[in-house]
Amino acid sequence: MKFTVQNVSKLRPRIGTLSNFGERKNGTLETPMLLLHSQGGQIPHITHEVFKLISKDAHILQIPLTSMHNFQETLEQYNGTITDFIGSKESLSCITFHDPSNITRQGHHAKNKVPLWTKNGIVYYDAPMYCKVLESYKPDMYFFISDGDTNKGSQQKRIQKAVDTTIHFYKDCLEGHKKSAILKNSFAMASIAGGYCLKSREKCMDVMLKDSEIGGYVIDGLHNNGPEIEFIPFDEVKSVAEFVMSKIPENKLMCVQGCWNPVNIVKFIQLGVDLFDTSYCRIVTERSSALTFSVDLQGELEEYEINLREHKYADDFQPIHNTCSCFTCKNYSRGYIHHLLTVQELLGPILIMIHNIHHYLNFFDTIRQCIKENTLNELEFILIKQFKNYEDSRKKNTAEISTFSEG
Ligand SMILES: [Zn+2]
Repeated sequence: MKFTVQNVSKLRPRIGTLSNFGERKNGTLETPMLLLHSQGGQIPHITHEVFKLISKDAHILQIPLTSMHNFQETLEQYNGTITDFIGSKESLSCITFHDPSNITRQGHHAKNKVPLWTKNGIVYYDAPMYCKVLESYKPDMYFFISDGDTNKGSQQKRIQKAVDTTIHFYKDCLEGHKKSAILKNSFAMASIAGGYCLKSREKCMDVMLKDSEIGGYVIDGLHNNGPEIEFIPFDEVKSVAEFVMSKIPENKLMCVQGCWNPVNIVKFIQLGVDLFDTSYCRIVTERSSALTFSVDLQGELEEYEINLREHKYADDFQPIHNTCSCFTCKNYSRGYIHHLLTVQELLGPILIMIHNIHHYLNFFDTIRQCIKENTLNELEFILIKQFKNYEDSRKKNTAEISTFSEG
């Protein structure tokens, strides 16, 4: 896989392309783009067949190791690639260590090892073990193992440890990558650790920015994953993101993982970040909500999202969104989905997820269009307004609930 970027100025939004996917897969992908977040190779709530109702384009499936670890022995004996194994031959794959939609438990550190939380408990990985696993997966893209267990509140001692361990992993992973006939054909993304300390980020980058084998970088260690990422204020992460983005060579693919809200996604893109994931669609779907925010620069502002569990949708016969062309909106009403959720029918979250992924992929189409037409600031402006209304009403509801329980 090869990454080419069109405009090469730093700290600016940019269009890039991923191409050269090997013998079996054709086409190119345009960045900024989304990895399709999966668990065990399945997009939460929907099958690969159902996904084809949303998009027939090529995509990269993000497969967290957390969700695959238990199939390790089977995969070692299996000759094909990870996408053959999960029944999605037409997809490209990207292996990550953690699952961005679930909180990664903190602590349980061990020297030059990182804990992986599996269904059967904790398993410690070092770089050689990780590379061996990757060889059996034969991924199109993968993230280097790292110690990303830092967040806004991390102490300097923890940050220091995270950087030292990540540098150790980096050296071992790079050696594993170069030596392996399988991995050296895969697109390697190195993880930059260092929490919110710029000096620590610099220490990490001093080691990592020289090697031509690295296709891109992940800004790791900003959070511990899970739904709370949605409400991290961008001002908290801005200085770290700006610092890292100002140092990285322009020809490298840049990734930030996690359930960031659309406003913060655009703010990262304004700094030149290229790659995100769809874990946000999972957390929105699992609160029974459908994304309805508008990305139409000429149109009216809309409600950011609607919660279809609310009783007011019981006799609402409109689709989730009037102008949406997704399978759900073309065939089902808000009232019917409300009914499915009320009786806990599995089809409810499936229909919402179809809409949410469709809406989110469209959002990224609009982002790329806005970069080309130099209108990303306008898009950011309308997103800020819609997200703020949603955040304000959420804060009001939380305050009302706590007043009620205190009373
Ligand atoms: Zn729809």
